[in-house]
Amino acid sequence: MSENTITLYPSNWLYNAGVVGLLNNLENNYPNENSPKNLAQICEDGTVIIDRNIFKNLNTKARFIEGVDKISIYRKGMYRNFLTTEDEKKLFIDFVKSLGSVENRDNCGLCNYGYYLPLGKVNEINNGQRSNKKFLNRIKEFNFVHNTIMGPTVDKFPNAFWNNKRGTKICHLCNFLILHHHIALTSLAFYEDIFINALSFKVMYELNKLIIETYGNMNREEAKNKREILATSVIEYSRKIKSTLGIWTGMNIEIVSKYKVKNEKGQWDDRIEYFSLPSDVIKIISDRGIASALSELGEFRILNIVLNRKYSDLIEIAYKLLRESTKDFDKRNKRLIDNLFYRWDNRKNLTQTANKILLLYTLIEEKIKRS
Ligand SMILES: [Zn+2]
Repeated sequence: MSENTITLYPSNWLYNAGVVGLLNNLENNYPNENSPKNLAQICEDGTVIIDRNIFKNLNTKARFIEGVDKISIYRKGMYRNFLTTEDEKKLFIDFVKSLGSVENRDNCGLCNYGYYLPLGKVNEINNGQRSNKKFLNRIKEFNFVHNTIMGPTVDKFPNAFWNNKRGTKICHLCNFLILHHHIALTSLAFYEDIFINALSFKVMYELNKLIIETYGNMNREEAKNKREILATSVIEYSRKIKSTLGIWTGMNIEIVSKYKVKNEKGQWDDRIEYFSLPSDVIKIISDRGIASALSELGEFRILNIVLNRKYSDLIEIAYKLLRESTKDFDKRNKRLIDNLFYRWDNRKNLTQTANKILLLYTLIEEKIKRS
């Protein structure tokens, strides 16, 4: 790590979503900014390196305060407790500009490192307006300010990362980063947002982008179950992205789902759920050949057979299809075929479909033998 940069390492999902959200946000251009996008580097080793100059280059006023897009935080939505007065708006601009000088002088429950403004800067801020002191005090622990981000789940959030303590310390840099977490989420339905969490920012950045492209504007009926969504995005990643998932396939890739349910008092409660695919299944579907074969078939029935590891079912289906393909079109077992396939070209060219399924089976067998 050079003096002019800060290296960010994946941590818990909220922090990870914050970093991925920032990366997405940097793709937008704002006036008077000197290409901040070029000051953040997504590395193959799973880290993100940000140039300390990035903070000076951000037009904080346009991005976060006057902004009309979804990053605007002043008295808005889940960030409504973050900045509360006119003075704090000005203070926040100064706060963000100063983040380039953060130093590691205390720990942080979110990023596990802790990047704080130098004490001199903190004193300078605290000696300003009365509200200044309040702001830095308010954000130093994960508390009611962030409560609106997580809703009542803030109590449940700690678990593994937080040692079950409330009011865990959260550093100045993390306070800035988590303001972006919602940008990385995909809305599946009115009350459900999802994020794909992994041990590499590169993998998270690409997978969540694929999800937004594929499922971002779907309604509830169209949205498939989480297992299928996660699997589809891994498959698309393996087909489209030049660098393979490689070593990351052996590690946990999970979907975090944040949704609301009505409690007995009729109020909305936030819930968080995690869903992951076993690493042996991820290894199989992220193989480029297998991913292409699955994607070309484009059938959720076939995908689920693979996800359930019932590979021999593929052979059975292929033989059934070959048998049906020798019959006249009218005499074919229409119900059997309709139940198996959604796409018309798969139903029509049975020999071709059977061969595609047999190829898929062979590729999977080879993959299993090799590993
Ligand atoms: Zn931190």
